[in-house]
Amino acid sequence: MNEIHHWIDGRVVEGTSGRTGVVFNPATGEQSGAVDLASAAEVDAAVAAAKAAFPEWRAATLSRRAEVMFHLRELVDANRKEIATYLTNEHGKVLSDALGEVARGLENIEFACGIPHLLKGGYSEQAAGGVDVYSIRQPLGVVAGITPFNFPAMVPMWMFANALACGNTFVLKPSEKDPSVSLFLAELLEKAGVPAGVFNVVQGDKVAVDRILEHPDIAAVSFVGSTPIARYIYETGTANGKRVQALGGAKNHMLVLADADLDMAADAAVGAAYGSAGERCMAVSVVVAAEAIADDLVAKVAERIPAVTVGNGHELDNQMGPLITGEHRDKVAGYVEGAVAEGATVVVDGRAGDVPSEGFFLAPSLIDGVRPGMSCYDDEIFGPVLSVVRVKGYEDGVEMINANPYANGTAIFTRDGGAARQFQFDVEVGMVGLNVPIPVPVSYYSFGGWKASLFGDTHMYGPEGINFYTRGKVVTSRWPDPATSAVDLGFPQNR
Ligand code: NAD
Repeated sequence: MNEIHHWIDGRVVEGTSGRTGVVFNPATGEQSGAVDLASAAEVDAAVAAAKAAFPEWRAATLSRRAEVMFHLRELVDANRKEIATYLTNEHGKVLSDALGEVARGLENIEFACGIPHLLKGGYSEQAAGGVDVYSIRQPLGVVAGITPFNFPAMVPMWMFANALACGNTFVLKPSEKDPSVSLFLAELLEKAGVPAGVFNVVQGDKVAVDRILEHPDIAAVSFVGSTPIARYIYETGTANGKRVQALGGAKNHMLVLADADLDMAADAAVGAAYGSAGERCMAVSVVVAAEAIADDLVAKVAERIPAVTVGNGHELDNQMGPLITGEHRDKVAGYVEGAVAEGATVVVDGRAGDVPSEGFFLAPSLIDGVRPGMSCYDDEIFGPVLSVVRVKGYEDGVEMINANPYANGTAIFTRDGGAARQFQFDVEVGMVGLNVPIPVPVSYYSFGGWKASLFGDTHMYGPEGINFYTRGKVVTSRWPDPATSAVDLGFPQNR
């Protein structure tokens, strides 16, 4: 049994709370590990280490912090397979997908390698006679990251790369469902030259989170997870005077117009709905199909589903792994059951799919004739269930997307550039794809949804991440005229 502990002040620290959580191998359904669940005192120890490490890390030169990021970049690159293996072991996603997660996380470290440029301020010479004004950005102090189960390596990298490069020290509270990779990342950070105490990991659940939210020495909290918890984190953290960015859940729509390339759209829908077993906050959950092409599109999606082989993520032929727990698998399957009761048509029933008998597997489902008000439309399912809603055309489709409380990502499929451009203008969603089903921004833009998908005003990573992890200072300066100096500096008098 794998025992998963904390990482505090540069070393593994065994838990003392007496509480542990069960970690599964979702491909077998068996317990693979036990993770320590921190008490408030253990959070305090990590925060104390981070606080003590801050003055020196903050004073490290920009070139030193950039150098550490470059080393980290090399180490993560050299250990892609090892990191991905942790993900497949505890999350279950197939290895190719896990490698994709590492690649998307690594981008953020590469972005942070440019920290000397990213922290440049502005300078206004002669704002008034003899007066110059300039701005600098400084780190906040100890910052915390609280992360979800579905991207146990990438989402922490979204946060700690920029936070550390900016000169903050960091306390990570990973998901207790797949916590092992966080300790491997801590080791890589140490090898890269991150001093003890600059990066800490506290394993835990609500007890640890609540202590983070009230801890007086934590300046800011980054959160990614479900909407109810994101709202709670934002409200509690800000009430305690912290800077908070809290990204929540999603219900992503893909609008397919009558002129779309239907093969392209069907390929995109299958990859985006069932990849990672639908456990992605940018997964396509609803296809909004123009009436004229809906029958064809549904047929094309359905005919592709048998090719989505389901099984252990370590077996390279498989395209979809298990869900995170048996309980979650049953909840997702319940939406298929519910859709039948609510009058939708189950075109492909994942409950009858060909999956291994052990483990938390559920094959892809496709449900047609879905409408707002049905639970499979209204709820974030977070599993391999794709709903199809039929609309007359563009106007009805956009109206439906804009009426949805979630607004993380969306996409339009069309050959018409004017329609795509109008969609980009009209749609009230934070990330938009034009013939791109999962428009996760590259690391030099920022990631964030609108409405119930993000609480706070700062998106994650990229330029907004740098802003989040720093505060601005503006200096206004005036120097005495050197010609009036008591010491003769060689300036001419009466210039
Ligand atoms: P979750 O909200 O259950 O958990 C996220 C974190 O919050 C974990 O670290 C967990 O330990 C902690 N937590 C859980 N319950 C808590 C409570 N009652 N009080 C305090 N802390 C608590 O989310 P999850 O199931 O791990 O992840 C899936 C969710 O995350 C989905 O809703 C998905 O859409 C969302 N997500 C969003 C994004 C995004 O960028 N918007 C990205 C990834 C995942």
